[in-house]
Amino acid sequence: MKKLFSLAVTALLLGSMSLGAQPTGACPVIPQVARYVSAGEGSFNLSPGSTYSLKLSGLKEDASAFKAYIENCDLALTPGKKAVVRFIIGPSALKSNLPEGAYKLEVGKKGIDIRSASYEGAFYAVQSLIQLQQHGAIPYCRIEDYPRYGYRGLMFDVVRHFRSKEAVLKQLDAMALLKLNVMHFHITDNEAWRIKLDCAPEMAIEDFYTKDDIREIIAYAAARHIDVVPEIEIPGHNRALLKVHPEFYCSGDHVVDNVFCIGKEEPFEFFFRVLEEVMELFPSQFMHIGGDEADKDNWKLCPLCRERIQKEGLKDEFELQSYCIGRVDQFVSAHGKRMIGWDEIQEGGLSPNATVMSWRGTSGGLKAIGMGHDVIMTPNTYLYLDYGQDAPWKEPAAFNYYLPLKTVYEYEPEDGIDAPEHLLGVQGNLWTELVVTDNHFEYMLYPRAFAVAEVGWSPKGSKDFDTFREKARFLCGVLRSKGYTCFDLDTEYGDRPESLNKIPRITQNAKAVMYIGSNDKTGRETPALVDGYLGGWAMKGKTRWVTANTRAVTIDVDLGEVMDIHYVGAEFVDYKLRRFQAPPDTEFFVSVDGKNYEPLPIGQIKLSPDRQGYAILIAGGTVNVQARYVRLKYNTGKVRVRAFISELIVN
Ligand SMILES: [Zn+2]
Repeated sequence: MKKLFSLAVTALLLGSMSLGAQPTGACPVIPQVARYVSAGEGSFNLSPGSTYSLKLSGLKEDASAFKAYIENCDLALTPGKKAVVRFIIGPSALKSNLPEGAYKLEVGKKGIDIRSASYEGAFYAVQSLIQLQQHGAIPYCRIEDYPRYGYRGLMFDVVRHFRSKEAVLKQLDAMALLKLNVMHFHITDNEAWRIKLDCAPEMAIEDFYTKDDIREIIAYAAARHIDVVPEIEIPGHNRALLKVHPEFYCSGDHVVDNVFCIGKEEPFEFFFRVLEEVMELFPSQFMHIGGDEADKDNWKLCPLCRERIQKEGLKDEFELQSYCIGRVDQFVSAHGKRMIGWDEIQEGGLSPNATVMSWRGTSGGLKAIGMGHDVIMTPNTYLYLDYGQDAPWKEPAAFNYYLPLKTVYEYEPEDGIDAPEHLLGVQGNLWTELVVTDNHFEYMLYPRAFAVAEVGWSPKGSKDFDTFREKARFLCGVLRSKGYTCFDLDTEYGDRPESLNKIPRITQNAKAVMYIGSNDKTGRETPALVDGYLGGWAMKGKTRWVTANTRAVTIDVDLGEVMDIHYVGAEFVDYKLRRFQAPPDTEFFVSVDGKNYEPLPIGQIKLSPDRQGYAILIAGGTVNVQARYVRLKYNTGKVRVRAFISELIVN
């Protein structure tokens, strides 16, 4: 049986080889095309000024914008007779039920033939040609290509640090090359409003875009088949608003300073005026209204909010948030648009038309899909491009996750999803609290945005990281030659080597319980502390580090039986940039019966060199005792810092 199977496979392989077919990976385009077949030996030389022809096939829409693009893009085609690039565009050009954006591209001796049902498809064919051309002559081939998802986005936070209009336009060019088609524009937040609206000119204080700037960005994006989705944060993330409009605060005491009062009508009236103007300005069918991280403490204390809760028959502050989002959803829907909100909009009940953008991992998205809502996946565990992409000691300041290119690339959006028709697509998010300059902004984007593009475009099951990484190295070179800053894959260090393999341990059956604070009597079992793995660069997400938001921690390890112990230690991280600090004060104890503990005379030893303020430390040392129980107590002292421990090592 086994033999027969392998013979069949061999026959298949031979068959495809004799037809000259190459594996899909042989096409150097990012994102990977759906189908690529070599069409024999040889290649076609395309040079700037090469001629093109364009035939419309059942398409009414004017071709001038498309012509303008192909004549001015890197291919610099010119219209002419005996054309070497021949477009046929229109519903009858591509007789198939392929998704929107599909195209066929054939390269042979006589030139290049492109067929697509729409300008969008032809545009993507041109992007594939541009990338093929970057490798020199274009090999004879047949490509059939189409997107996996209709929504393939990047979010740019231009609030925490402002990006000029020119810097945004530059990223739209790179997005086009990657066939990304949504730019989610995060334009209001705690720090500022980055848009000057006629109805709220008072909000434009610092750097901002005028409506003409916005119109220019939208038009530039539209010419590249990119939709610009605006985000106006409601009801949280509004410190900037409340500074200018303190009358929108809850009455009484404020616990937080960035959430407006749901009991008052004025904030609703203000935001309805804002949304009306924003929705008129942005042609996108989507309107993102934030909805995330709205602290509910003010609403608990505010008499007006309490009154609203009572009057509307709501249960609590969570339903009050849901009431707020529901009103906004009604307003947005009444204007013929679709509301998107971050996954917190599900708290207290999800508004009927809402599309959920799932950012806290994938669970919120899975839940919303289960309820029949449309979802865009932007899980921080895979697609948050503000997270560090290499060893923290060689990287600029970044949030505490480790999100290398490979992790982004390996994201499979449909894992755990029963109704993929509700999954609109994926998006990489670049928050900019720590991203100050344009160069840094691009450094975080590229090449990880390549991986986002491939996750959103290429067929399920077509991934091959090694091939992708080689293509990404090449495309980074192309982008650099065009003045972009990219993370350097050639000097990628990778995850902490010591964290990749299990360390030797006295027993595989140890059990660790962590007690947080001095009043914790029950503790919580924490297997990560005795799993045999040291911590890597990730401090959150898929991490092996354990932390507690308290000063005093006790960890008890039960080895299961009395054993000869020769070494006891614990590993901590010291990272000044993020205010993580190894505890200055650690004490070890051992016990035979779990009742009477003897202290161990062990000091603190520095393990790794301090590089850019980052170091890993081991508290511990050699001992010679018999015991069943090991106890570690540590205290972060008076400084407000977090202590992260990865492993309690007993040998
Ligand atoms: Zn209130």
